[in-house]
Amino acid sequence: MSQIIDGKLVASHIRKELKNEAESLLKLTGKKPGLVAILVGDNSASKIYVNSKSKACNEVGFHSVIKIMENDTTEEDLLKVIKEFNADDDIDGILVQLPLPEQIDEDKIIEAISPEKDVDGFHPISFGNLVIGKETFYPCTPFGIMELLKYYKIDTKGKHVVVVGRSNIVGKPIANMLVQKKDGANAIVTICHTAAPDIAFYTKQADILIAAVGKANLITKDMVKDGVVVIDVGINRIEDSNSAKGYKVVGDVDFENVKEKASFITPVPGGVGPMTIAMLLTNTLKSFKQKMNIK
Ligand code: NAD
Repeated sequence: MSQIIDGKLVASHIRKELKNEAESLLKLTGKKPGLVAILVGDNSASKIYVNSKSKACNEVGFHSVIKIMENDTTEEDLLKVIKEFNADDDIDGILVQLPLPEQIDEDKIIEAISPEKDVDGFHPISFGNLVIGKETFYPCTPFGIMELLKYYKIDTKGKHVVVVGRSNIVGKPIANMLVQKKDGANAIVTICHTAAPDIAFYTKQADILIAAVGKANLITKDMVKDGVVVIDVGINRIEDSNSAKGYKVVGDVDFENVKEKASFITPVPGGVGPMTIAMLLTNTLKSFKQKMNIK
């Protein structure tokens, strides 16, 4: 029988602490940490993400701005807006909701965000610092996974972590965070991806398995060993005639069957997902404190 890793619960604790800290900082400085979310175009999923980030900001007492720009916004216009927010003293964190319309080069936009306000942790400077083990803004989803492992006292030292997926926002950063010679890390890490002839060869060896792929039920019971810790990052919609919406959200792991073998497992929804926004808020507070020179 496995223990369910309750990301909703852990995230709610973090948000409560952030709220308390924001209140004390407001008394001390008269200012609030500020986050701007820039949304270009009318992607409906992006709108939902931006609104929930802004709502979470308000709930913990941060200053929140949503900047909405038209679908035909030019790269130059967006760069100008980022430059303005880089210079805006009320803003500590800048996030540009991805994906961007095709006329805009995402890499150029990410690089234009001041590294001091890069609360998504996607800037090459943040990523470089992460790889060499320096303190930085960690990307929110991998940061959330590290917090879950810490909260549940899951030992990573010398353990074999297998990460499935090599994206710049999840797979690569979580692998690099776990390999660091630090408490809460120090793991032996394997990353596997589409070029692996048989991912089961790797997943079967995992003490800790992190699936960040985006394919429903990719990881089945026969692909894991007894006692494995499973972190499921995937978010996939599958048809469900019992649901009023006609679909349900599942992860990359066949949860019902894999949980029989796992020692710990994250559900989807309610596992990694809620941690992502909590860590975005954590990064925003960190940026504010750095600006104010508060330890
Ligand atoms: P991505 O599409 O950028 O990367 C997916 C990776 O999976 C790629 O590196 C690819 O090589 C690998 N892959 C694809 N098929 C594979 C296969 N059959 N075998 C092995 N590897 C395979 O995706 P991403 O942005 O990293 O997101 C992954 C999943 O996590 C998605 O479902 C996404 O929605 C979800 N996600 C969730 C959160 C959260 O907050 N919970 C945050 C980010 C992403």
